[in-house]
Amino acid sequence: MSSIDKILAGFRSEACHDIRPLAECANMSQAEFEGYGSAFLAETGGFLCLFMPYVPHVVTEPSVAFIDSYYWVSQKIYRLKKELLEFLRGDYPLACTFEGSYKALVFSLGIGRVLRNTLIWIKPFGSFFCMEVIDLEGNGPGNLPQSSHPYEQKGCADCGKCEEACPTGALKKDSFEMNLCVRQKQFEKADFGDPLNVKYENRLLGCNNCQFACPMNAGVTAKAKRPSDEYYRMFDLDEFALACCRQGFRSSEYAAIYGANYAKPIKILGQILVAMKNDNAKAHVEAVKKCLELNNPNANGLLLDWLERFG
Ligand code: SF4
Ligand code: SF4
Repeated sequence: MSSIDKILAGFRSEACHDIRPLAECANMSQAEFEGYGSAFLAETGGFLCLFMPYVPHVVTEPSVAFIDSYYWVSQKIYRLKKELLEFLRGDYPLACTFEGSYKALVFSLGIGRVLRNTLIWIKPFGSFFCMEVIDLEGNGPGNLPQSSHPYEQKGCADCGKCEEACPTGALKKDSFEMNLCVRQKQFEKADFGDPLNVKYENRLLGCNNCQFACPMNAGVTAKAKRPSDEYYRMFDLDEFALACCRQGFRSSEYAAIYGANYAKPIKILGQILVAMKNDNAKAHVEAVKKCLELNNPNANGLLLDWLERFG
């Protein structure tokens, strides 16, 4: 009995109530696919791959922070993986999280294609999915099966559209400079003096430019949507900055989206202040002053620096 058969027969998840084999999607086009909110499983070569597709967010208002739906879904799939590891422990005592390259794994196993940047493409999700992998036998990343098809057939058409769409120049024809990618910058401490930060606009978590430009994603990007009104309330830059300066951020509704590793309010506040500057600094001066009134000793230095530069 495969691990997927076992899971489908006896596993119940708190994190996701609809789990299906990836094989169900084999003949489905991006336009037909409607399995958002579900998790899909593929097992091959001793690796159990978990996929959760998402519909990307579109936030056009610069006074509202962009947090892509990827990050909401990535919290769910992380919890699902932990539940599955517990469930499978009896049959696979060495099962552990796969720590190697997902790109190499997907390509070696022949279950998807590899694009530029760090992107992987799986039919019918395109590159819009979160992924986790359980190494069932504890084989490690050094024991991937050999690919049956040459790397030249990896799947990218080399059309260059992603490169043209990249706001920071991170993506080049033959290389990807991770230290210029907005998604990487979002995990670093904000630098008000960085001339590149104007390119980040209102992006706090995520940047979809290269994925939206890729023709391989055409059917999925057509479904991209504006998030709910609740999202707009929470992630209004002024409201979000105040939430970061109050006590209790780590147990708030924001922390549930950011996840334990990333719910660091002062780091997030730095990004919000950059987004405020990129939007229209004068429109946010009052909100920054209200943040100061909260007198959070960890935030005050950042707020005063911002007011001096842009207030
Ligand atoms: S995520 Fe954004 S910044 Fe990073 S490579 Fe893609 S387009 Fe460029
Ligand atoms: S936009 Fe073109 S070059 Fe970039 S990943 Fe997609 S197919 Fe490849």
